[in-house]
Amino acid sequence: MHKVVIVGRPNVGKSSLFNRLLKKRSAVVADVPGVTRDLKEGVVETDRGRFLLVDTGGLWSGDKWEKKIQEKVDRALEDAEVVLFAVDGRAELTQADYEVAEYLRRKGKPVILVATKVDDPKHELYLGPLYGLGFGDPIPTSSEHARGLEELLEAIWERLPVRQIETEPEVAGIRLAIVGRPNAGKSSLLNAILGEERVIVSEEPGTTRDAIDVEFFFGGQRFVLVDTAGIRKRPENLVEELAIRRSLRAMDEADVVLLVVDPFQVGDRELKLANEALDRGKPVLLVITKWDLVDKEDAPKMRRLLREKLAHLDHLPRVFTSALTRQNLDRIFREAVRLHELNQTRVPTAELNRWVAVWTSRVQMPNFKGKPLKILYATQPEVAPPTFVFFVNHPEFVTRAFENYLKNRIGEDLGLREVPFRLVFRGRR
Ligand code: GDP
Repeated sequence: MHKVVIVGRPNVGKSSLFNRLLKKRSAVVADVPGVTRDLKEGVVETDRGRFLLVDTGGLWSGDKWEKKIQEKVDRALEDAEVVLFAVDGRAELTQADYEVAEYLRRKGKPVILVATKVDDPKHELYLGPLYGLGFGDPIPTSSEHARGLEELLEAIWERLPVRQIETEPEVAGIRLAIVGRPNAGKSSLLNAILGEERVIVSEEPGTTRDAIDVEFFFGGQRFVLVDTAGIRKRPENLVEELAIRRSLRAMDEADVVLLVVDPFQVGDRELKLANEALDRGKPVLLVITKWDLVDKEDAPKMRRLLREKLAHLDHLPRVFTSALTRQNLDRIFREAVRLHELNQTRVPTAELNRWVAVWTSRVQMPNFKGKPLKILYATQPEVAPPTFVFFVNHPEFVTRAFENYLKNRIGEDLGLREVPFRLVFRGRR
């Protein structure tokens, strides 16, 4: 979905503008788990389509434009396509306004200058100084009197990039399974996610299975956490055997698996769980939790150690988080969406066969008694996980080394390294 972010010093009327744009065009408002107090998000529906609107109002602690705030705004702007720079249309420009302007200029994103609180057309006479910010014509608006909103929406659409394929949020919801060894921090993480008052929680007690699925929204996207009962019922009295069986079942039902890792307890169990998920064709996100317990100066060493211990999982994306401080909680969901979409990749047949020609031209093909292996044709009949079928002259000529070579090429050239894609070799039909 398109993303538009409102930025501006405190008290210029950012949140009124946010509420007004949403109210006018009603939409889901959901606070972001983990950063609730900082960011507000909502989906604005317009005749021309919809976009995600983010208000950074909660980021500001005082009147100053501090480094800390700047870092948070950085994050919010990472994937923003348009920035609404809000300034008070009735007050003199302040030092903070100029600093925000300077910051936005460096960001290089399309900026729309929005003059707020212009309740009366007469006030427009005093907007001259706003040109000094260097963002062209300000758009006068009034959240109180709903003035200027149509013009603003029009300006937004003018600057939003035209998209060939609009990836709509998954309506049914992206299904997430939380797995990990006992005491890894699963239930704490679950509570951190669900602890937010405004997360929409709908528990649907399974009728045939005693599982509880929990639904919530993040960034306009619906998520379902599958079988949370298995996590919340403390597993002390649950035999580990049973706990494992539950995890496997949750994996079966998930689109993406969140593997919770305690950085101080990493070993074979993590590899085993990850492989169980990957074997099921489920992308795995490593959620390294309890990161608040790692000293800042130890962090790089710790990361290195983790990389070594999880060397076999080096290709998997990871998020460093903490149920306690909630750092990066939002990133988990962004990554989950990305992995889910990646796992849905469909490589057109023509493109795939062009790659096959390139790949096979770069190596000595395996051969058997002087007869070389030939790939006649390749196709990808399935997604989630992407499954590639290679029709070859003699499937038994395919060596482990050649299969690994193809896997590496698919991972790198097709950008699928992070998801559990599959290869199938078939003989001539
Ligand atoms: P589970 O068995 O995987 O559900 O693990 P729990 O969520 O019960 O956590 C195990 C222990 O780790 C508990 O004592 C938690 O309080 C602690 N813990 C979990 N997450 C964090 C975290 O992010 N930071 C800190 N400091 N402790 C945590």
